[in-house]
Amino acid sequence: MSRTATDPGSRSAQELEALALRAGRELEEAPPQEVLRWAAETFGSRFCVTSSMEDAVVAHLASSVFPGVDVVFLDTGYHFPETIGTRDAVAAVMNVNVITLTPRHTVAEQDAEYGPRLYDRDPDLCCSLRKVEPLRRGLAGYDAWATGLRRDESPSRANTPVVGWDPKRGKVKIAPIARWTQDDVDAYVAEQGVLLNPLLWDGYTSVGCAPCTRRVAAGEDARSGRWAGTGKTECGLHT
Ligand code: SF4
Repeated sequence: MSRTATDPGSRSAQELEALALRAGRELEEAPPQEVLRWAAETFGSRFCVTSSMEDAVVAHLASSVFPGVDVVFLDTGYHFPETIGTRDAVAAVMNVNVITLTPRHTVAEQDAEYGPRLYDRDPDLCCSLRKVEPLRRGLAGYDAWATGLRRDESPSRANTPVVGWDPKRGKVKIAPIARWTQDDVDAYVAEQGVLLNPLLWDGYTSVGCAPCTRRVAAGEDARSGRWAGTGKTECGLHT
């Protein structure tokens, strides 16, 4: 699939929703590569992969069927240096087009307007300003986006469709590895030599912004290190 393939661009939201619901039924049992091939053939350059740079699994899968695919990364200004390094390594060695989105305000500007450490006082507002709004802007030119969501990650992700409709953004949302387990991911990473964020070897099992991510003890839920002790479990990108 080349980047100059058919560029639909003119489908209405109703058409996209119908496409998503039909593909969700037809591709439920399909392997990730088949799901991604369908996305590339259906949406062409109006399809992208989003990555938190915790790993490059979905970007790797997508690039195998759609070389040069857009990989969108949200730079909140609060990432660990290892995460930025992973982004740079992905851009350097993989056949993908990494696009970095940034919030409207730098951390310093946000501190001046809302006070320092907004993530401690109102993490929902901080995520809205630094993740949700930039992604909304960044996805404007796409009809479909893929994520690395998996059903086994948390109860809130247990019903993630392989292909579904994202009513908030009016786009097709694709989770090609929704049915994979952690063992499936580990096997693919080992087999393909996929890039991983080095923090995964340092006690982190889910990697987000540095102020809101801690290491996880053995036996704890993989995402329990995110916003630990606050009751918050999602940043708003997937809810
Ligand atoms: Fe802010 Fe934390 Fe959300 Fe990052 S994860 S945007 S630092 S509240």
